[in-house]
Amino acid sequence: MSETVGSQRLAVRVAGRESGDVAAAARERADAPVVEAGSTGVPGVEPLLAASDGDETTFYANATPADAEAVADALAGDGALPDGDATVDTADAAALPLPDLDGFGAERSVLARCGWIAPTNPDAYADAVGFTDADPDAVVESAGGVLGRGWGDWSADEPVGPLWEGVRERDGSPAVVVNAHGNPGDALLGESDPFSVLEGAAHVARVVDAVQVFVYVSEDDEAARDALTAAADAYPDFPVDVSVVEGPAAYRAAEPTMAIEAVEGNHRLEARLRPPGPEVEGVFGEPTVVHTARTVAHVAAAVRGEPTDSRVLSVTGDADEATLELTADDALDTALDAAGVSDYTGVLVGGRFGGLTTDLDVTPTPDALDAADLGTDGVLEVLGPDACPVAFVGKRAQFAEDANCGRCVPCREGSKQLTELLRDVYEGSLDRPKIDELMRVMESSSVCAFGQHAPRPVRTGLQEFAEEFEAHAQGTCPAGQCLSDATGEEPARAKP
Ligand code: SF4
Repeated sequence: MSETVGSQRLAVRVAGRESGDVAAAARERADAPVVEAGSTGVPGVEPLLAASDGDETTFYANATPADAEAVADALAGDGALPDGDATVDTADAAALPLPDLDGFGAERSVLARCGWIAPTNPDAYADAVGFTDADPDAVVESAGGVLGRGWGDWSADEPVGPLWEGVRERDGSPAVVVNAHGNPGDALLGESDPFSVLEGAAHVARVVDAVQVFVYVSEDDEAARDALTAAADAYPDFPVDVSVVEGPAAYRAAEPTMAIEAVEGNHRLEARLRPPGPEVEGVFGEPTVVHTARTVAHVAAAVRGEPTDSRVLSVTGDADEATLELTADDALDTALDAAGVSDYTGVLVGGRFGGLTTDLDVTPTPDALDAADLGTDGVLEVLGPDACPVAFVGKRAQFAEDANCGRCVPCREGSKQLTELLRDVYEGSLDRPKIDELMRVMESSSVCAFGQHAPRPVRTGLQEFAEEFEAHAQGTCPAGQCLSDATGEEPARAKP
């Protein structure tokens, strides 16, 4: 039976990463089409079964094969659908209607198809939104003002148009790298709506007259790799060669120049010195555009004439993971409310090296996040109510020490010294001037964004949780967590 559902009124959809048994059970019994959609971005409710009957769709969270059989039998006969967890009007069913379940938020634009259509079926994408084939000038006009999303984007927080213009003006054989490595939002788009990622990449390729598109994924992200590969094979008339390339799962590998190194097949990933940037010397020395999957999905939306100021955010940490979308006017606490998080010590905003805060009355725009000293990588990492912020930032400093590429001294040696200075807090020594000066050097002298941002959890943590740091230096952990120190070693004297 066809998996193209589009606006058909009778259908069963099963969304989620582990949904095979539920889909199989539905298929066994259903007369209606059964669609295996990708993840919705809200793993806590998956498998999510959605039964459309007429103008309504009923959702069943954490569905079992028995739920699927009951739904299929109801749709096949005259009986009413079993009671679900949410029911939504779906008279126009091209996109996931937002069920009233924790984690979905109130807005979906670039995430609209995630968990609703069969991800790698081009007919499903064409039915839902259609493939757009705009000429380069029209793309620049409609999408040149889109802001790059994510630390793996060479236009991060800047309009993409000037980067395209720079590549366009150069001689050579330009390339486009879609960096889908290392951020839950990018991975979700790759897994659940790969055609929108590829469509955006195709637009950029036409604009810069690229000869090749590389889609770069983490080697531990099989779902995104498989979906993007299948979609690339099935894409109707993709304008240039497109390849999906895997790279190491290391966090730093998403840095734009390390992504280029990985695309070239280099095993030891180090950030490249700049200038020149990738727009001058990128993949195999050719001018290259590097955008994240979120960025190119927003480009595709802009070319379709949709608004593009929404922000994809992922709630992680001591919370059920959820990837959702906020408008530019929504405060960050809207995302936590949507994800059902109400009690926390603090939130690290903006990725692995974001800013630690308790004040989430901040909109998700780059300007507002910068003003609040928060990161813009679209991740809200929750520290639960029992978490110790001192231990948390200590571990984050140690992560920077362990995971940097080793290329430059400020990051390589600075992260080591920073970890030691934080360890000293447990010995009774909190040397703020020394810590502050070290962080200043790291932020101003490191070669790439990894080292430039690595001190931010510590710096913002020291500001937000000054009393907790003082208490640790005096031998007490207010959270009662520090039986061992921030690096996992037994402390000299810091006992709760
Ligand atoms: S900042 Fe860190 S990750 Fe970046 S080049 Fe320097 S050592 Fe490598």
